[in-house]
Amino acid sequence: MNKFIVIFLLFLNANLYSQAGSDFVIKTSKATLTLNDRNNISISDNKNLVHLELNVQDLWTITLVNKSNRRNELVLDNKSSFRTEKSHQKIKFYANEIKLVDIPTSVSAEFVIEVKNDAFYFYGNLSSSSEDWIIKSLEYPKLPNIKLGGNKSNIYWSDGLGLQFNSAVEFGESRTLDYPSRSATMPWYTINSDDIGIYVGAHDSTQHTTNITLSRIENTNDFETVINTPINEKEYIMPEFVVKLYEGSWHNAAQFYRSWYDENFEVANGPDWVINDTGWLLAILKQQNGNVMWPYRDIDKLCDIAERFNLTTIGLFGWAIGGHDRLYPNYLPDPLMGGERELKEAIKRAHARGIKIVIYANGKLIDTSTDYYKYRGIETIAFGADKKPRMSFYVKHNNLSPVIFTLACAGSELWRETMHDLALQAHSLGADGILYDQIGVYSPELCYSTYHDHKPGQSDSPFRLQMMREIREDLKARNPDFVVMTEASNNSVLREIDYTHGVGAGYAPSNNVFPDLYRYTFPELMATQRNPNPLLTKTDANFALLYGLKYEVEIRYTADVQYIIKGKTPNEDSYWNVNYPPDISKMQSMSMEESANYVHSLIEFKNTHGNFLKRGKFISDEGITIKGKDVIARGFTNDDELGVVVWNKNEIENRNFEIQVSGYKHKSSHHPSKQKVKKNSLLEPNSIRFLIFEKSN
Ligand SMILES: [Zn+2]
Repeated sequence: MNKFIVIFLLFLNANLYSQAGSDFVIKTSKATLTLNDRNNISISDNKNLVHLELNVQDLWTITLVNKSNRRNELVLDNKSSFRTEKSHQKIKFYANEIKLVDIPTSVSAEFVIEVKNDAFYFYGNLSSSSEDWIIKSLEYPKLPNIKLGGNKSNIYWSDGLGLQFNSAVEFGESRTLDYPSRSATMPWYTINSDDIGIYVGAHDSTQHTTNITLSRIENTNDFETVINTPINEKEYIMPEFVVKLYEGSWHNAAQFYRSWYDENFEVANGPDWVINDTGWLLAILKQQNGNVMWPYRDIDKLCDIAERFNLTTIGLFGWAIGGHDRLYPNYLPDPLMGGERELKEAIKRAHARGIKIVIYANGKLIDTSTDYYKYRGIETIAFGADKKPRMSFYVKHNNLSPVIFTLACAGSELWRETMHDLALQAHSLGADGILYDQIGVYSPELCYSTYHDHKPGQSDSPFRLQMMREIREDLKARNPDFVVMTEASNNSVLREIDYTHGVGAGYAPSNNVFPDLYRYTFPELMATQRNPNPLLTKTDANFALLYGLKYEVEIRYTADVQYIIKGKTPNEDSYWNVNYPPDISKMQSMSMEESANYVHSLIEFKNTHGNFLKRGKFISDEGITIKGKDVIARGFTNDDELGVVVWNKNEIENRNFEIQVSGYKHKSSHHPSKQKVKKNSLLEPNSIRFLIFEKSN
């Protein structure tokens, strides 16, 4: 019975201050941190609009696992001897061999708060000198009381492309950034109140798994926050967790994070064809139930549809023997759909029309009915803490039994090779790229397999990045224009991904979405919007133009095909046995022809102004002031010029607007129908205008 004992070390009443005395202060240009002789820390800006209070005993929690001690109840030690050392702009708390009441641990700890880069940096290290004690996890810093004194708090949250909340109440009880994943694309958030903001982020050059939680304190407008890191190691050098108080808008927080990112990483540069690509038609050729909607020869028809919408890439999903979401990772060309030769020839014909082809693979799923699972599963699959395989189920049709998948771990060399082989196959088929579904999606769940390149209890997220790097480097050597894609972005995979299939918050209009956060921090991102419908409404198309996303149309089910090919408008019964159907009300609102014509003209307009809208730099609304109900504007710079997309979101009424851009003067105004327009004339319902400004001297 080797029962593990988990000990929570709370440094209650610790002998923290052998050097007790008067207040000790460290300062940035905008904020002061004070440590008093009662162990209290306060941080506030010079106007006291942002104010944090805590006691040092609450600043961290370490969780240890003892491998040899069989007792499962232990009294918390309140006599640990943490000492304090104060020096210029720096405070250190440290202890050797933290003691429990009757058990000495072998763990030493050091926690530092230091002023650097005009911010407060929280870092340190933990180490165990014996194999008996493992550091399971760390919570640091824990900031239990953040008050914002301004009139209105805006919370900017790195979920997907971004979320924005206009108050603590709107933010809700609690949210966690489980980084890196589709719902935690960057490990930081910021809260702005009036003209003061607080930035909280993890600056970790290993991009280790980090959980940042922000919670509203019940019945108040105040917050508490904690950064939690799973460790499962004997030693741990903490990255820098940064708290910065700053003046001005959220853009300053984004710039601060980006300048750190640039010191450590580079964003992948895709080939020119991706920059110029207008977007993609996603087509499932064969569904999970075996229904073939498009044999390989019909890729010609998909090219016709793509051209109707002005889309220049086709994503082939469900293209292999198992159809979509079945028999993974067996992606063999299907003889019943025409075989490998017909597929290759169809790809060549698409190329002759100027259309790129990307083929699908899933970077995480293994179908348990395959021989691959039976014979290679033990080496490749992710195991949970309970030593059971991590499972996932996908049911596309309700009259079928669920397809049972296990999750693969990229920490397995064999899995990385399996994925690599699929890229080589895609290249040999003549495709322009491969999409690894879900690689950018999943949270970094911990894998306890002993067969992998990580230690048990660690996440595979660094190996997802390694897998993409290995594949991308090899394929680029064979064809520099070959692209590696994934579904969903985060700023870890962003280093090795040429093109992203958007999914998650901000890739489509919805409440609280704020695509600006990620797009402004990483304007290089090449991503499609997410639109699981065989048409694009005007609203969805205008949204993509405003935020510099590429267009997407999806054809996934038989009723989608009938809508696209036969013009048949669906009703509720059309998708009766299908899960995840498209938005039927959108399909009922306009015909495929109406949608295609609008999207075609909008893409033509985007191409005309491609210096801004394709090759310019997205700057969100920085420096742009727009007045007018329902009207929003976003900018794209190109050298000394700035292009601004203005959108009247109201679907029924005309709208007035006034716009000013700091440091620029108006040059010309444009409309997708190519009629001449005046800068400030009425905007028609749900319409776009494009204004070009030049720098004023
Ligand atoms: Zn693993």
